Amino acid sequence: EPLRVRPIVEEAWRRLPKAQQEAAIFEADIPPHLPLIHGDKNRLEQVLVNLYTNALRYNQQQPHIRVTATGDERFVHIRVEDNGIGIAGDHLDKIFDRFYRVDVTASRLTGGTGLGLAISKGIMEAHHGRIAVESKEGTGSAFTLSVPLYSLHDGDNDEETQNFDRG
Ligand code: ATP
Ligand code: MG
Repeated sequence: EPLRVRPIVEEAWRRLPKAQQEAAIFEADIPPHLPLIHGDKNRLEQVLVNLYTNALRYNQQQPHIRVTATGDERFVHIRVEDNGIGIAGDHLDKIFDRFYRVDVTASRLTGGTGLGLAISKGIMEAHHGRIAVESKEGTGSAFTLSVPLYSLHDGDNDEETQNFDRG
């Protein structure tokens, strides 16, 4: 399915509880002429909801989330930056593992299961895309979703094309 980036970024934000939306600063700075991406809108929104939820949850200030996007010849890269507590370097490669949580004591307070990023990674892999993280403890984190361009996808496996081929 060919998708525009901006509606996904914004609709995912609107899926969060109103009180959480209102308590945070959300800024989406998406350039107007980005190429279309190839993916499942609902699932990509789910990944963004997971990232936004983390950005709000692992934060001790007024949450500030900034979303930007850039395109290259293969992907659109959607970057979600927060001003949260950050993640120390020795945890960074593990946060995408199932049930991994950085602070087991604090996790009783924040009440997650450690699945959000593992699920998000699975969704990005199913899209032939990627999820990556950069972070600095005490400063914030930035997660980047790389989603393949629609123009590059091989339409032969599309349901519509198959229906058409069968006449
Ligand atoms: P769930 O998403 O299943 O409710 P969770 O938030 O603990 O639970 P993940 O979303 O997979 O699980 O995140 C794994 C861990 O990575 C978190 O417990 C937290 O320690 C850390 N983490 C994730 N996102 C951020 C972030 N934006 N800032 C700081 N730490 C983060
Ligand atoms: Mg989470």
